[in-house]
Amino acid sequence: MKAGVARVGRPPRSKIRKNDTVMVVAGRERGKTGKVLRVIREKNRVVIERLNMVKRHQKARGAQAPGGVLEKEASIDLSNVMLMCERCNAPVRIGGRRLEDGTGTRVCRRCGEVIDR
Ligand SMILES: [Zn+2]
Repeated sequence: MKAGVARVGRPPRSKIRKNDTVMVVAGRERGKTGKVLRVIREKNRVVIERLNMVKRHQKARGAQAPGGVLEKEASIDLSNVMLMCERCNAPVRIGGRRLEDGTGTRVCRRCGEVIDR
């Protein structure tokens, strides 16, 4: 087998999950924090509440759907966000740890705090 072709199939698992509080570390919204609404795994992107808002110009479609400009969250690249650690009160890198009972969990690389409760 040729080198580099062994790893096919499932996309790399992200440490970021829905309902996490994350900080944006790059781009237009750098330095802001928000709650993860959605993780788009296939595209390696996340949608964060009230961040990276874009204006959508909606055409009127009759009385039930009036036109206008509505604001909507646009996705941000996963590599541009970091999970916030409550204990460090800072964006941190995430490590994994297997607990005594065999279940996996996420831990803060800085303080060692277990993030999943
Ligand atoms: Zn921490």
